Amino acid sequence: MAAEGGPAENVPFETPDLYGAYPRLTDEQIDRLAAHGDRFPFEPGQVLIREGEPCEQFFVVLNGSVAIVEHYGTPDERILQVHGPGRFLGEIGLLQGQVGFYTAVGHDPGEVLAVPVDRLRALVARDAVLGDLVLRACLGRRALLAGLGAGFRILGSRYSADTRRLREFAARNRLPHRWIDLETDEEAEALLRRFSIGPEDTPIVIWQGHQLLRNPSNAELARLIGLPAPSFDESPSDVLIIGSGPAGLAAAVYAASEGLSTTVVEAIATGGQASTSSRIDNLLGFPSGISGAELAERAVFQVQKFGALISVPAEATALKPRDDHYAVTFADGGTATGRTVILATGARYRRLVVPGIERLEGTSVYYAATLYEAQQCRTDPVAVVGGGNSAGQAVLFLADQVPRAYLLVRGGDLGSHMSRYLIDQIERHPRIEVLLHTEVSEVIGDPVLESLVIVDNRTGERRELDARALFVFTGADPSTDWLTGSLALDEHGFVLTGAEAQADTAPGTWESRDRNCMILETTLPGVFAAGDVRSGSVKRVASAVGEGAMAVHLVHEHLGHKATSGTR
Ligand SMILES: Cc1cc2nc3c(=O)[nH]c(=O)nc-3n(C[C@H](O)[C@H](O)[C@H](O)COP(=O)(O)OP(=O)(O)OC[C@H]3O[C@@H](n4cnc5c(N)ncnc54)[C@H](O)[C@@H]3O)c2cc1C
Repeated sequence: MAAEGGPAENVPFETPDLYGAYPRLTDEQIDRLAAHGDRFPFEPGQVLIREGEPCEQFFVVLNGSVAIVEHYGTPDERILQVHGPGRFLGEIGLLQGQVGFYTAVGHDPGEVLAVPVDRLRALVARDAVLGDLVLRACLGRRALLAGLGAGFRILGSRYSADTRRLREFAARNRLPHRWIDLETDEEAEALLRRFSIGPEDTPIVIWQGHQLLRNPSNAELARLIGLPAPSFDESPSDVLIIGSGPAGLAAAVYAASEGLSTTVVEAIATGGQASTSSRIDNLLGFPSGISGAELAERAVFQVQKFGALISVPAEATALKPRDDHYAVTFADGGTATGRTVILATGARYRRLVVPGIERLEGTSVYYAATLYEAQQCRTDPVAVVGGGNSAGQAVLFLADQVPRAYLLVRGGDLGSHMSRYLIDQIERHPRIEVLLHTEVSEVIGDPVLESLVIVDNRTGERRELDARALFVFTGADPSTDWLTGSLALDEHGFVLTGAEAQADTAPGTWESRDRNCMILETTLPGVFAAGDVRSGSVKRVASAVGEGAMAVHLVHEHLGHKATSGTR
């Protein structure tokens, strides 16, 4: 389908629905949608959704067929799917206000039903059956797009920190993209020639097959994709939430659904640590488990449904009292204000200390094991370091994709830090080998990992292990450097709350308020901490969600108390 209006050539009639991502709506469901939209005919080659542009309509194919095309009208044009009657167009980006990652164009002449997206969001929010069907399909399509390597392309060297930054931002925000390594991919040379740029101008982002961004910042890339930009009202939000992991997103759902004006700011990507989990099996209500990515997307949709604002990327760098509220400053110099603040900045992964490991980070050493990382190492043996649940999940997920997966554990008993359900699966898995009392002492290979030198920490015996990728899950440190000096932290850097915080507060702080420091409250009245960032927290998704909800209850109490006592 080289040009607009031409009939499609050599394409199968309709893509089979393998993963439940392309359900067909019933006539009754289409009738219900039709009450909120309009029908109109389309011709072959007529564009309904254009790659790189926001789409305000939800389209249902009534008859004829529509082709989903990547890089439409460029030499790289590729047909991804074809949809016939009863199918709808769009993926999760449509529901979240992101731009299209492909073009939807008429294939056989027909008719569509067009429903404005904001009406669809309202329908999805209140119609459980239709809502879940559309949401599940849109989530599945995002994963399939990622699996197809569709979306924008990042062309850059594996050695370039900026290339790694862009790749991590794209992967953590679950954005469909493909990385083309300047060092090894033949395609790289041809693209440099086509766009008449030199290797020194990389990394570049190639968008819609023809638009170039030269080493864009994460914020610039986010704006291109349509991720919500940090635009903060002059007037303070009732609640300003820092961090959008499970704790922050849960707090946002409760706060916004209870009528508080709510702003969430996030430094990297919505979903936090949990979003890097390939499958969370121990979260109540998900008997067959849920991927961290799906949990994050569903939560973001819920937060937006209640009208809370989410801004990514917005890294908080300072917190200061200002008049009767708080001001938070960001790495880009912007500021947001809140009558109350919920700190939900969680923890960030701990790096493995092995000589020379930095040069392999992002190319063959990873701190997450999601679809994006797994794509890089399908045919080779891999090693996972760590003895906790995150390492257990990662080795199980990877072992289904690679010929061999080693689990390297420093201790002598898997049961000391890992849940039984994971140990049972690991012990039964034919492609997993567990090495206890084992530590990594060397990484061998350049530019990619070729093998590891491991040492038995009882005998000191060293040996080489054939592995092309290394996944590290050796715990996490609190993300609180920016809070040092603003409020009290424990000896490990976690935020003190409740009685411990009260004991560490300047005399008179609480007495003047005629109340005590509340259980999740920090040494700053009206500033709360929830989830992994809090001293003494349990470091689980469910407890982070619980604390997020609880913090909102305490926000109401604080604002209520403030209203009656006139103190901040
Ligand atoms: C791979 C993996 C698998 C896991 N599996 C499970 C499991 O199966 N079951 C389970 O119960 N738990 C699991 N956990 C633990 C669980 O993910 C965490 O306990 C949970 O995510 C904590 O939520 P949180 O919201 O407190 O913090 P986080 O998830 O860490 O989120 C904090 C967010 O704050 C952002 N942030 C940090 N600093 C700033 C700043 N200065 N400005 C703005 N934003 C900032 C971060 O980017 C992040 O998005 C797993 C963790 C990992 C890493």
